[in-house]
Amino acid sequence: MTTSTDQADPAAQATAESYGFQTEARQLLKLMIHSLYSNREIFLRELISNASDAIDKLRFRAIGSPELVGDDAEFAITLLPDAKAGTLSIVDNGIGMTRQEVIDHLGTIARSGTAEFLAQLSGDQKRDAALIGQFGVGFYSAFIVADEVEVFTRGAGTDAGTRWTSRGEDTFTVEDAPDLPRGTRVVLHLKADAREFAEDYRLRTIVRRYSDHIAVPVRMPKAAGTPGDATDDAAASAELETVNSAKALWTRSRSDIADDEYQAFYKHISHDFGDPLTWSHNRVEGKLEYTSLLYVPKQAPFDLWNRDAPRGLKLYVQRVFIMDQAEQFLPLYLRFVKGVVDSNDLPLNVSREILQQDERVTTIRNALTKRVLGMLQQLADQQPDDYHAFWDEFGTVLKEGTGEDYANREALLKLLRFSSSKSTDRAPRTGLDAYLAGMIEGQDRIYYLVADSWETAHRSPHLEVFRERGIEVLLLHERIDEWMMANLHEYQGKTFQDVTRADLALPGEPAQPADDEPAGPLAERIAAALGERVEKVRPSRRLKDSPACLVLGDDALGPQMRRIMEATGQKVPESKPLFEYNPAHALVQRLDAEQDEDRFRELVQVLFDQATLAGGGALADAASYVERINRLLLQLLSD
Ligand code: ADP
Repeated sequence: MTTSTDQADPAAQATAESYGFQTEARQLLKLMIHSLYSNREIFLRELISNASDAIDKLRFRAIGSPELVGDDAEFAITLLPDAKAGTLSIVDNGIGMTRQEVIDHLGTIARSGTAEFLAQLSGDQKRDAALIGQFGVGFYSAFIVADEVEVFTRGAGTDAGTRWTSRGEDTFTVEDAPDLPRGTRVVLHLKADAREFAEDYRLRTIVRRYSDHIAVPVRMPKAAGTPGDATDDAAASAELETVNSAKALWTRSRSDIADDEYQAFYKHISHDFGDPLTWSHNRVEGKLEYTSLLYVPKQAPFDLWNRDAPRGLKLYVQRVFIMDQAEQFLPLYLRFVKGVVDSNDLPLNVSREILQQDERVTTIRNALTKRVLGMLQQLADQQPDDYHAFWDEFGTVLKEGTGEDYANREALLKLLRFSSSKSTDRAPRTGLDAYLAGMIEGQDRIYYLVADSWETAHRSPHLEVFRERGIEVLLLHERIDEWMMANLHEYQGKTFQDVTRADLALPGEPAQPADDEPAGPLAERIAAALGERVEKVRPSRRLKDSPACLVLGDDALGPQMRRIMEATGQKVPESKPLFEYNPAHALVQRLDAEQDEDRFRELVQVLFDQATLAGGGALADAASYVERINRLLLQLLSD
């Protein structure tokens, strides 16, 4: 993709080179410029955020190599507007970039899944803007307000500076730039309709709104005379003043922080455009001292299901930024949580490897896990609508925890939400506590049903007796559910019971074990007709409206596990269902009276196939089913 300008002089060879943006970067740039039109000011938050990250990185590197900082140790971000020229420069004295880093970082998007993400964008501006917001627009947001961007940068500890420039279309140019100070200067040549971003007052307002809490001072030339009067040179020589509060938000006391400050900080660390759903800010003192600020987002990130997607908290040690995505502080099933943990007890030179083994980290992780679960429980208790919104976005991830986190299982179970047989709405809104409260007299089990879809679950023949008796059944229809339920045995002393299994205990009735039901003459006749296809045939206690249903043996694999194993090419262990018929049903009574054995067999096959379909299963031989039905229809029509 390099189209190097041919230079005869080898020394100058590395100088001006033009590159094409990576395809994804190019697409994102285009979309961003068109979709984010109504929220343009966020570019400043993104660029200040990058500058602050660059300073954080240098501070961290300087712990081991103080010479990288040298005399220029007063870290700051400086905004230099030039209203006359229509430019805005954002200057930092952070880590800077080498020429190669400039090419890599400002020409590509490294996050995996970007292509899939872009494919989700629809062209609908509002929807796309929200999606791009979750993706995190970063540096490229400069092109929302600028038609040309220049970046001058020199990496800490290197001598060679680099100038990057682009109009945000297909290409960018990189060349050597002598005599640059350490760090990065981003110069925006503002579009004609974005000149407001060179105005002193406008900039101060945006900084206060979005970047107040950044630990690094953001400085601007002292406002003198008419705002925007100064030229770039004059501005550079003017006296500077700090315009943000320049104190890390989490170090302040909770009672001094307004909600909108918490929200702005969330946007800074998450690159999300929207507000968080809830947060929790705590300082722990005693043997182990640390502060945490944890947020639950409103919307799931586009790559929630990508196992390599960035996750984890920002780790600070004694206020020094150590790393992003410190994933050791929360379990995987809480990967949607964003935030900061700042510890006074960990060493500054802590590495990911050390974090994995450190007992203090385990202690903090356990406490933060409880903290998040507590925060969610509080949301569920106090703002149920918000909790439902949370559940719809992240419920499936939280379910992973039931099989992984035994220590917090009870708390996790309390947070689960299910669809219910008592509701015609598929939305999962029933918690286990609500379920227990609605149990009928004599009920000591929590009944549930797992199916491939809500429709199949909701209309399952297995629910008939429960509906008649007013017993609620929890309906599960996500891929993870069968796995989850296999791990769960009881809640508050009440056993979970799958209603599609052979051994079904109903309140006030003796259990109906799979093996000791005396089979009547009709059962024997049906069993002979079905032969190898079934384990057993018996009259049903669960059917009221349907003629027949299939029941799983107590140890048999359920439909979801079966499908997962088939999809992953594993051999599915053979297991035959039980066939239950409803003696009170007109069809079954008609069947019982049928004298013609061929016709009897034909009808039984149809009932069996229909029971398979009603349970959400696929017919092994659909063609025979269709032929059979057609034969019966013809007989019916010619009778
Ligand atoms: P992100 O910050 O999410 O990684 P960006 O598109 O904002 O994505 O930036 C891409 C990369 O460019 C950053 O990760 C960083 O390595 C580099 N970068 C951007 N701005 C600066 C800066 N002011 N100083 C040093 N490096 C920077």
